[in-house]
Amino acid sequence: MNTCPFCDAKNFTAQLIHEFEHAYWVAAHNQYYQGYCLLIAKQHLREWHEVPENIALALHNNLRQVASKIHEAFAPHKINLASFGNAVEHLHWHIVPRYLSDPDHLQAPNLTMPASLTPEMFEQLKQQLG
Ligand SMILES: [Zn+2]
Repeated sequence: MNTCPFCDAKNFTAQLIHEFEHAYWVAAHNQYYQGYCLLIAKQHLREWHEVPENIALALHNNLRQVASKIHEAFAPHKINLASFGNAVEHLHWHIVPRYLSDPDHLQAPNLTMPASLTPEMFEQLKQQLG
């Protein structure tokens, strides 16, 4: 039985901003970095090099679209992109807007901050990014 939490879209429906052909754009639970989102591949693949070329191109374009929307909505100083997959071995990216107001903005983002996304915050975020 597959217990991968990213294989079942029901696990993140409440944070879904947009569904692309090959990926889900989801608001992260932690909004310490306002606009922090995830892009989750629909197909269960562990590594970037395992992605078929046509899907890799689509995912690459999706990442650009998400980053562009975040930039338009929140005008961060920088946008960090990261793909780890150590905790959840299903290809996904962290798209993390960084602000000069963050005292640690020169460091890698802390992605283990406690969940802070409320349903009201999500609705506002979805409107701002839509
Ligand atoms: Zn999976």
